[in-house]
Amino acid sequence: MSNVILVAPLAGWSTPLEEAPDAVFAGRMLGDGLAIDPIGGTLYAPCDGELIAVPASQHAITLRTPDGAEILLHVGIDTVALGGEGFELHVRQGQHVRTGERLLSFDLDLLARRAKSVLTPVILVEGSGFTVTRRNQNRELNVGEFLMELMPVANTVRTADARGAGGVRRAVVAVGEGEACSLNAADAGDASGNSAVEAVGRRMSVFLEHGIHARPAALLAAALKGFTAEVSISARGRQASARSTVGLMTLGVRKGDDIEIRATGPDAVAAVAALEEALLGGRAVEGPEPRPPAQLRTRPAQIHTAADTRADTNVLQGIIASRGLAVGYALQFCRPQIRVPETGAGVSHENSELDRARALVKTRLEQAAAAGSTATREIIAAHLQLLDDPALVGDARTTIASGKSAGYAWRQVIRTSVDALRSLEEGRMAERADDLLDLEAQVLGALDGDGSTAAALEMPAQTILITKELLPSQLIALDAARIAGICMAGGGPTSHVAILAAAMGIPVLVALGPAVLAVPDGAAVVLDAEGGVLRTTPEREQMVLAERELERRLQRRAAEQAAAQRECRTADGIRIEVFANVGSLAEAEAAVRNGAEGCGLLRTEFLFLERLSPPDEAEQAAQYQSIATALAGRPLTIRTLDIGGDKPIPYLPLPHEDNPALGLRGVRTSLWNPDLLRTQLRAVLAVRPDEQARILLPMITDPAEIRTVRGMLDEVRRELGRAVPIELGVMIETPAAAVMADRIAAEADFLSIGTNDLTQYTLAMDRGHPELAARLDALHPAVLRLIARAAEAAHRYGRRIAVCGGLASDPAAAPILIGLGIHELSAVPSVIPQLKALIGGITLQGCRELAHEALEQETADAVRALAVKMLSAPPQAVPAHE
Ligand code: PEP
Ligand code: MG
Repeated sequence: MSNVILVAPLAGWSTPLEEAPDAVFAGRMLGDGLAIDPIGGTLYAPCDGELIAVPASQHAITLRTPDGAEILLHVGIDTVALGGEGFELHVRQGQHVRTGERLLSFDLDLLARRAKSVLTPVILVEGSGFTVTRRNQNRELNVGEFLMELMPVANTVRTADARGAGGVRRAVVAVGEGEACSLNAADAGDASGNSAVEAVGRRMSVFLEHGIHARPAALLAAALKGFTAEVSISARGRQASARSTVGLMTLGVRKGDDIEIRATGPDAVAAVAALEEALLGGRAVEGPEPRPPAQLRTRPAQIHTAADTRADTNVLQGIIASRGLAVGYALQFCRPQIRVPETGAGVSHENSELDRARALVKTRLEQAAAAGSTATREIIAAHLQLLDDPALVGDARTTIASGKSAGYAWRQVIRTSVDALRSLEEGRMAERADDLLDLEAQVLGALDGDGSTAAALEMPAQTILITKELLPSQLIALDAARIAGICMAGGGPTSHVAILAAAMGIPVLVALGPAVLAVPDGAAVVLDAEGGVLRTTPEREQMVLAERELERRLQRRAAEQAAAQRECRTADGIRIEVFANVGSLAEAEAAVRNGAEGCGLLRTEFLFLERLSPPDEAEQAAQYQSIATALAGRPLTIRTLDIGGDKPIPYLPLPHEDNPALGLRGVRTSLWNPDLLRTQLRAVLAVRPDEQARILLPMITDPAEIRTVRGMLDEVRRELGRAVPIELGVMIETPAAAVMADRIAAEADFLSIGTNDLTQYTLAMDRGHPELAARLDALHPAVLRLIARAAEAAHRYGRRIAVCGGLASDPAAAPILIGLGIHELSAVPSVIPQLKALIGGITLQGCRELAHEALEQETADAVRALAVKMLSAPPQAVPAHE
């Protein structure tokens, strides 16, 4: 191995590491190096290497040189807390980069204002087999100038190091054979060993605010100094040595994750205890500053006993997954542990048992889908697809053929797939892994009996269900009418179960930590899923206040519902149409009950998914007609198929796409397969009365697409001999369409803004990305400016313009949208009564002023603050109606 030269990755003043205002860096707990006080906002590669760790917060990058030296570049101090704000990554984990290649840009001004320091440590990660021999510090550096020289550590030196404070991590790798052997001998329980070997396993949840990033990783590794045990941590389907800071970082552990610690060696028990203490922040770690950083002290040791919990944690903090307020009684819900015999009772018996269990699960899922909402059906569709997955079933049969039981085989194939999916580190794939685990539980439950454990749970009314984690199938099986709220020790806000609960109107808090599992059954609790807290032992007064608030909301809801059928007008008499988004006949019926004045978006995908051939013209026409009839003459806006590479349909083999969100989607797919579109147009034209239906095209990017579809529509009309024209509108959901809205309005009969996609494409944030969910706010001024532009173009051409994306269902957004010139909102049915009541209390002038101010803001948060302020202000003075 040769020496490694590092060049300056940033322009700025280079300074000794001791200057870093952070005990972990200054104390060299992560390794040796120096720090740069940057004068530019771009980070470049200091050497050739592979990027081995890039956290979601993008504030740090670790690369490994071809010889194995690991270099950590940590932009600023405490910048993990920015959660990625101000950083823009130009590379991805696993990529190989060359010296001087651009890695990351950052907003130096923002960091200067918000971070503890902008000083950027450049660290040779301890234990990667090199030592710093020369460094260029206490001077101004340009990018690319010499920074440090690293020299490989000779084996003899490393052996000595390994016994000292700094080098335990590599001890077993670097020591001579004899020492490794003696460990092995002890491992094997050799009577001649000096000490008994212990093997310990421990599962726990991580409550560090930002998960295990660079600094906690260093502190954990430091906590093991002085112990000889081999200690590993497993999480998210991966494993790393607990002594390896880089290894720990690459696990990607986030707050609320469960980890498993395993240790073997003579002091394994003590080593695990030290690690546990460091994780919980109860132990002062070695280093110049004995106090652990604040992050390690979040959630002090409150998780041990119920008594502790009551003493210290009357209020538990969680993450809001479904908003709302509930007062009720705690009921701990434990997932049944299903024991699975390994050995089967004959291949044909086990195969038919597997088939019986799958069939039982399938029937139950189909029943739940038939009775459920769109969200339920979508989640169940994913489960049904997996249940019949030929690879899963085939692998299970192979395992059964080797003599294993059906349950053992099913669990094994599921776990193998889960590990594979999780190793892909992709949010959506991780969701699929959760679906698989849910399916594992359902099939094992069905093998074990009838699997209806969840349904059999006795729940009193007003139950606040408390659980470590809940699977979608378990929630579906429970009596939702008795559940006032759900609290989870773990889980994430964008999980399937959270989406389901939100669709059912059940408030949910997740990531409350293990303390919530100690709340006794029957305890009166207040779940505030608007403030993000669970009150586990509320004072009488708090209970009364919460109950009063609930009562007030119920009464308000009842009043809104009673007034929901009235025509919607602002307080100064301006007509605003409130329509509904619909995805099935059941939802159309719910829309009418809730006062919808029409359907602004019928998502026709429901007819095309989960089947082997497309619905023919007659089937489509019958479905559209039944929805039109349910709407009893109200306008019905039928959107043509919005299918794409991320929602594959077997009879439409779309080409593989690396980035389906930017591929064949919406109208592009329809024009790529014109026969499908032609059939759909014919079916829509069959809806009677003639004037009720309108056609809406998704994902338009230019006027030519509209002209092509209009040409096809005219042809189909001629074929059908229909003289009455039908309105052809388009969705404004690409920035291109918004910017070209004037040209598009010239071609289309009406416009409807899809804020879900418009926001995703404007902010360049995947709408399904769990990490970005909090920042993906359609009230971002950039999105509002596009809406304003589209509205202005529509008015210029005398076209109606609606919003049918999620923003229309957000009451806080209604005044801004109206102020921007939107006079039709198409929302989810359940929110319509509230929207109509809210609109009845505002004036057009007030909305215009608010919209004007909103366009001048810099962030979605600032816009939201303005909207909330307006809605909480006393009612506006209403000028006399004209
Ligand atoms: C939108 O993008 O806002 C929209 C309504 O379409 P969908 O959510 O179906 O993509
Ligand atoms: Mg869309």
